Amino acid sequence: MAIQTYRGSCHCGAVAFEVDLDLAEGGCKCNCSMCRKARSWSVRVRPDAFRPLGNPGATTDYTRNGVVHWPFCSTCGVRPYYRSDVPETGGPFVSVQLACLDGVDDALLAASPVRFLDGRHDDWSNPPSAAEQTFL
Ligand SMILES: [Zn+2]
Repeated sequence: MAIQTYRGSCHCGAVAFEVDLDLAEGGCKCNCSMCRKARSWSVRVRPDAFRPLGNPGATTDYTRNGVVHWPFCSTCGVRPYYRSDVPETGGPFVSVQLACLDGVDDALLAASPVRFLDGRHDDWSNPPSAAEQTFL
């Protein structure tokens, strides 16, 4: 595959965006305290590959550490993406939820490789246990 432009949105449509990404590169599922509860399955892109389309005031920001921002739709509560800026991993990025992409063929999503991250233990080079992977 190759980089393509996809549209994504929250459940009610107030939050919408376009993103350029390559589904063949796959997404990440992480077991950190936020990703686990939000069932995050996301792809990280550079900020210039992400273009918000909806009402800019449609989201409420959520952050606990001031580093990762998880805006959620103020109407329906869905979190279609999150933002952060971590110099150690290349600077600012947007991480887009694959489940919030619209109109993507199920077979393409199913074929997109999943990388599991052990964010709960800050161990970014080893995946969490196989048991935990089954419900992330
Ligand atoms: Zn919404």
